[in-house]
Amino acid sequence: MAREQVFNFAAGPSVLPASALERARAEMLDYHGCGMSVMEMSHRSPMFQEIFDSTKQKLKDALCVPDTHEILFLQGGATLQFASIPMNLLEGGAADYAVTGNFSGKAAKEAKKYGTVRIAADTSETGHDRIPAQQELKLSEDAKYFYYCANNTIYGTEWQYVPQTKAPLVCDMSSDILSKPVDVSRYGLIYAGAQKNMSPAGLTVVILDKALCGREMPYTPEIMSYQTLVKHDSMLNTPPCWCIYMLSLVLDWLKEQGGVEGMEEIKRARAAKLYDVLDNSRLYKAHALPGSRSDMNVTFRTEDNELDAAFVKGAAARGLVNLKGHRITGGMRASLYNAMPMEGVDALIAYMKEFERDHV
Ligand SMILES: *Cc1c(COP(=O)(O)O)cnc(C)c1O
Repeated sequence: MAREQVFNFAAGPSVLPASALERARAEMLDYHGCGMSVMEMSHRSPMFQEIFDSTKQKLKDALCVPDTHEILFLQGGATLQFASIPMNLLEGGAADYAVTGNFSGKAAKEAKKYGTVRIAADTSETGHDRIPAQQELKLSEDAKYFYYCANNTIYGTEWQYVPQTKAPLVCDMSSDILSKPVDVSRYGLIYAGAQKNMSPAGLTVVILDKALCGREMPYTPEIMSYQTLVKHDSMLNTPPCWCIYMLSLVLDWLKEQGGVEGMEEIKRARAAKLYDVLDNSRLYKAHALPGSRSDMNVTFRTEDNELDAAFVKGAAARGLVNLKGHRITGGMRASLYNAMPMEGVDALIAYMKEFERDHV
């Protein structure tokens, strides 16, 4: 049975490659002739261990993760990392946080419970419509780490450079991981909730420089201690088995598409097309400023809230779904994750032009 053809622009959970879903369906009841679903397997079974190990290896290959770094498959969402990071890395000292959106703001607020947070940049004054330049970052000498969010899912901005800092870089890549090559060796810690660009909700990927292990504060829960999690290879308790398996299928698809290099090429092309329409429109206005714009989440609006609502409704009637902006920002947001085909962007653009003709 084929599903109804829609283009799903949801910000997360979001579109997954159809081929990965089809493989999951084919293997749903009986995984490789073992008589059970991956959902039903013991996480300690050799069969699941093989899925776990190969998924980790595929991710390591996809992002060229060096041997100095460990990959963890955890739960608790990106949000749990807002606390795990300071509990493990702050050591009661100070850290620099760049606040460029909602999630980095939340992370900074959470970290304050565990030590000193210095705001290295804050773009809230202009509605988080841009990314600060390197020279603007206020870096402190004694920072245990520098924290930033690579792609601001809600506001639609994306860092176009990797900050230069003395302190280890800690980065929330929830909404742009696997969309471009990343030099992992430059980071102390990268993390991402899987439900934007990798897998279903329930899995959080952490990629950690092992040299940063063993600094957790004494009250850090066992399940949040990076050292403990590395030691147990993410299996201190039951890991999110099904999501790890789904990630493996998504990584197979990604490899067929030319890996992260292939994804980067497509992502730039998708977003460029859409921003071009926005910049040449008399009706729509892009939220993010040129030079700071996200290729993953394109945020825009008309001058009129009712018109925005009509736009979203009309789009849905055509199978262009989940274009409503986040409740914080209003307006529209088109999330263009890895699995969004160019046809989806073309269909959106055709609709946008028609809507503009009818409303200007
Ligand atoms: C969605 C998102 C989060 C929150 O993720 P949860 O898994 O729901 O905790 C954090 N950071 C970014 C950049 C996000 O896009």
